Amino acid sequence: MQKTNSIWAEVQKSLQKTLSKPSFETWIRPAKFNCFENGLLTLTAPNTFSSDWLRKNYCETIEKATREICGHDVKVVFNSETNISSDLTNKENLNEQSVNYKNKTFSNSHDNSSKNRPKNHNGLNLRYVFKRFVVGPNSRLAHAAALAVAESPGREFNPLFICGGVGLGKTHLMQAIGHYRVEIDPEAKVKYVSTETFTNDVISGIRRDGMTAIRDKYRNVDLILIDDIQFLEGKEYTQEEFFHTFNALHESGSQIVIASDRPPNQLSGIQERLISRFSMGMTADIQPPDLETRTAILQKKAEQERMSLPRDLIQFIAGRFTSNIRELEGAFTRAVAFASITGLPMTVQSIAPMLDPNSVGVVVTPKQVINKVSDFFKVSTDELTSSSRRKPVSQARQIGMYLMRHGTDLSLPRIGDEFGGKDHTTVMYAIEQVEKKLSIDPNIASQVQKIRDLLQIDSRKNL
Ligand code: ADP
Ligand code: MG
Repeated sequence: MQKTNSIWAEVQKSLQKTLSKPSFETWIRPAKFNCFENGLLTLTAPNTFSSDWLRKNYCETIEKATREICGHDVKVVFNSETNISSDLTNKENLNEQSVNYKNKTFSNSHDNSSKNRPKNHNGLNLRYVFKRFVVGPNSRLAHAAALAVAESPGREFNPLFICGGVGLGKTHLMQAIGHYRVEIDPEAKVKYVSTETFTNDVISGIRRDGMTAIRDKYRNVDLILIDDIQFLEGKEYTQEEFFHTFNALHESGSQIVIASDRPPNQLSGIQERLISRFSMGMTADIQPPDLETRTAILQKKAEQERMSLPRDLIQFIAGRFTSNIRELEGAFTRAVAFASITGLPMTVQSIAPMLDPNSVGVVVTPKQVINKVSDFFKVSTDELTSSSRRKPVSQARQIGMYLMRHGTDLSLPRIGDEFGGKDHTTVMYAIEQVEKKLSIDPNIASQVQKIRDLLQIDSRKNL
């Protein structure tokens, strides 16, 4: 009779040498010996998620290592200490802990202690922390998932795929995961990277034949945050490299967090196998914030900047800038700057003219709107700006006016000018028509959304 329970200790020792530290610590170390009978080694994982993971990913490796130690073939099976329902209870506890963390340690220490914390070159912006992120109904799920991932990386939600329109807080939220992770575990290797940087690294790797260096850089991390993954569209070779990076990281139990302006199934020009990997963890979207959330964001910002803005001015700004938090913050900053430069009081009356849409920073140019709409509907720009009443032309024109109203800083008369000298009432009518159709005609809604997505890509180029 072999000393059976010491076998697992031997196998663990051997696996510790061959597996990466996170994989070993996450999967192998917590697994306990249960029994070893008739060539069958039974191991108990702490929860069903771990046992499933071991079964799917580590069975062969463990069997091989055990065979080497015992000198004969061994089959390995896994069970778990908890069933699914107690896993869920754990998850609830986890949320409670996170609330405690937020109320006690985090809020008291985060800003002050940042000086004392070791600097790590993980590419994170110090402002993008959970503490500064206002949670509203629009971001509740994404926020909860982000927190869960930060506390327990490489588990249920891997990858975590955060999606939502421009300026809604994706980058902020994903970087908050990185900060929080380092806060909990200062040894954790965290890396934030934009898809553009990843692409550039791959390109320079190909040129200089230095893929090994790139692999070291991207695969040797515990938590990777990859922003704006939609920029992988159409980039075959980078996708190939990313696919292998993803697999290597996932396999070793590293947490992957991806941000995108669209959900995985709406990405085009990206390999199916990547899309399916993006969807295998958890997808959480962020919607535009409602009025209450926008107000809370402004209040928080005022608090952080130690500015006291009258409530009606905050309400005014929150009511005016509806689609995008970056714009909302921009309006706030302009209001504060304007008041301090002119010495005028912080009132709606004096600040409002300053915040007129005419002076709002440009997101896209009128030309970009016209070109995009013309390309999309296959209507020439001349027709678009003509007086043609042909249905496809006038419909495209109305959508163009609507998008120009929302994507640029142009007033109604100036939008009229861009469309060949139309009256501002025509523009207003067009916008109303589109607004009406958007709620009843899914086809129009999807067309508008698609053009908006394309324009968002342009808007990034403008920034
Ligand atoms: P995205 O990556 O989705 O384009 P960002 O994360 O860059 O958006 O957010 C744009 C700006 O809005 C940032 O300055 C960010 O701090 C701020 N912001 C976004 N969401 C929130 C939020 N929920 N609470 C507070 N600030 C936010
Ligand atoms: Mg971003």
